[in-house]
Amino acid sequence: MTRYDNLSRVDLIRLLGSAEAALESDQGDGTQRLLHDLQLHQIELEIQNRDLGQAQADLEESHQRYAELYDFAPVGYLTLDRNGIIRSLNLTAAKLLGRERAGVVDRPLSGFLVNGNSMRLFAHLRAVFAAEPETSVTTEIKLQTSAAGPMRDLRFDSRAHPGADQDCRCLTTLTDVTETRQVERDRDEVRRRLDLAIEGGDIGTYRASLPAGRVHGDVRFYDMLGYRPGDLTLDWPGWLAMMHPDDRERVEMRLRPVLAAELDRFESEYRVRHRVGHWVWVLDRARVFARDQLVGGLELAGTHIEVTRRREAEVKLAHLADHDELTGLLNRRGMWQAIERIRSQATRSSAPYCLAILDLDHFKLVNDAYGHAAGDEVLRVVAGRLHKGLRQGDWIGRWGGEEMIALIPNTTVAQAVQSIERMREAVSAESIATESGEIQVTLSAGLACSRAANDDPNEMIARADAALYRAKDAGRNQVVFDGSEAGQRAISIAMRLQDAFRLTAIRPAFQPIVALSDQHLVGEEALARLVDLEHGNLAADAFLGVAQQLGLMHKIDALLLHNVIERLRAGQGTGDPTLLSFINLSGDLLLHPEEINRAAEALSGLSVLLGRAPPVVLTINEEQVVTSTAQVTKALGPLLEVGCQLALGRCGGEAGGLRFLAALPIRFVELDAGLVRQARESARARTLLQGLQHAARDLGLITLVKCIEDEATCEQLLELGVDWGQGYLFGRPSEPMLD
Ligand code: GH3
Ligand code: MG
Ligand code: MG
Repeated sequence: MTRYDNLSRVDLIRLLGSAEAALESDQGDGTQRLLHDLQLHQIELEIQNRDLGQAQADLEESHQRYAELYDFAPVGYLTLDRNGIIRSLNLTAAKLLGRERAGVVDRPLSGFLVNGNSMRLFAHLRAVFAAEPETSVTTEIKLQTSAAGPMRDLRFDSRAHPGADQDCRCLTTLTDVTETRQVERDRDEVRRRLDLAIEGGDIGTYRASLPAGRVHGDVRFYDMLGYRPGDLTLDWPGWLAMMHPDDRERVEMRLRPVLAAELDRFESEYRVRHRVGHWVWVLDRARVFARDQLVGGLELAGTHIEVTRRREAEVKLAHLADHDELTGLLNRRGMWQAIERIRSQATRSSAPYCLAILDLDHFKLVNDAYGHAAGDEVLRVVAGRLHKGLRQGDWIGRWGGEEMIALIPNTTVAQAVQSIERMREAVSAESIATESGEIQVTLSAGLACSRAANDDPNEMIARADAALYRAKDAGRNQVVFDGSEAGQRAISIAMRLQDAFRLTAIRPAFQPIVALSDQHLVGEEALARLVDLEHGNLAADAFLGVAQQLGLMHKIDALLLHNVIERLRAGQGTGDPTLLSFINLSGDLLLHPEEINRAAEALSGLSVLLGRAPPVVLTINEEQVVTSTAQVTKALGPLLEVGCQLALGRCGGEAGGLRFLAALPIRFVELDAGLVRQARESARARTLLQGLQHAARDLGLITLVKCIEDEATCEQLLELGVDWGQGYLFGRPSEPMLD
């Protein structure tokens, strides 16, 4: 250490000045040394100065670098005091908080946290300050960067550290884990949904060895089909066998490239039979996870999702495309498809078809009086009634507004009229209950029948429309047929027949049957009459044709039988219940066992009342019977059981009738009146007639001839040996029996 060590720079400069002045006056050695020392010291000082400056610059640079490192670190640094006041933070942390750094220093962090998260912060701080030294505490806290800003998930990794003021600080690194958490949340959600779906029974999983190995499914796989695992041991062919036959081929086609190792994935939707019997639609998605190159087999892992409801919805959608939403009937589009179909069938079979347009009468008034909603309700109910009246194979659709169209294939005009008449009646039969009250509606219809197999439907619709116009014009609530006079007549008979049944206006007239030998009365034949006080009665010939076309003959038979039984019960008419009542049965009745049973029951009641078998003879005509002899025998069973007798009608006529003679317990044989007429001129016919008569006699049967109008015929028949006769010669039919 020199003597000048404690001198300041200013002192030294002053010292140097005085040394120089001394030097000028005194050139001695002491002064010289002093001067030298001073110079040396100045140089030292200069050096020190420079070093100091360098050190300062280095320090500043490193500080700058540190600040940059601190500020722009990829994680946020945050220093908090015990109260959660932000003491310092780097720029990254400020950015995470979504604020300017200057604006957040010395402010509480809790102010930036989403509700409920400040509690977490303070719990975190408490844990940090309570932890062992150098121990880090981690907490995730949600933070909202601004009032409407996005929510961030921040991870706080903190440890306690003594601060400059000896107060402990919480040093924290902040990491934004929002993205990670979102991905985790999404994944959890997917897993949760998958679990739910699986638990909900919608997804089943399986493994299968193809082409002929086992299929192993999980609980849901079996559950979907109503089985429990273990109920069913399945192999792949067995699985294919459970598929709907219509789907199997498609599935096998999809599998072909998978089996051929061209594809590793398989996807298909198909139906599988549920244990209970219905079909379940599954979406099968599978993947090959192993192949055995040697034998060409493969292992498949797949999922089954039940898509029955979606499939049904699709079907419903398809239904909506050609059905009317309000009424559920076919819409115009659906109806056109039906028309095209029926038309092409008609072209192939040459069978005519009919088309009717049905329009509600005065429907505008319904809307006006009751409101549109009530109008809609009426339309719905009317549609339901119309639909109920359809025969199988018939079609009905909503043509527009309150106009319906009906399509009746394979029909005669009379049958079509009957169908439409029935619909018209069904619509107006009962009033319709709506919220606005009971509404009564009627319907008019125009009917057209195809003229040739390839009739233009547009033209038919136009004709039906024209007929509808006439129906409206003629007072509404009626069916009008566009067509020939014969068609109109058929319509009018059909309508009267309808009325007849409603009013039970089919009544019997009776014509006597006598023994030819002495002309004493042995019985009477019940003949059907259509009683109509307004238009005059119709004899059977006039309406049986139409009735036959309309399939109403069994009803006529049943009504006649009913009337005959009632008459016998009451002891009316001839007053002699020993006389026989003959009734012609149509082939149609034999097809209606319910009518036969009802008649048999009434007849059995009658026989109890009379104390003997009912004096009823049922005549069957071979020409009317299309079924086999065995079927006829069976059908007539209940009537024979209660003691009715059988007659064979028109034996020797066009249809012969001999097959019944052999098979049925026939008691009476009516020889055909036509053959009797022929026998007068033709020897062959005469021989045939004689043959029949002899055969009947040999079989112990009573023979009978109808339509005898003159004595000569009577004589001729007597000669031949015929037993009984009926005809104008003995008596005309009575007037139909009325109540
Ligand atoms: P007409 O006896 O001559 O047929 O008389 P109308 O009043 O029925 O006359 P028209 O057939 O021309 O009128 C059809 C009316 O049906 C018009 C409309 O107010 C009503 N309408 C059509 N479609 C609907 C519907 O979907 N709902 C309701 N409520 N009314 C309908
Ligand atoms: Mg109308
Ligand atoms: Mg209309």
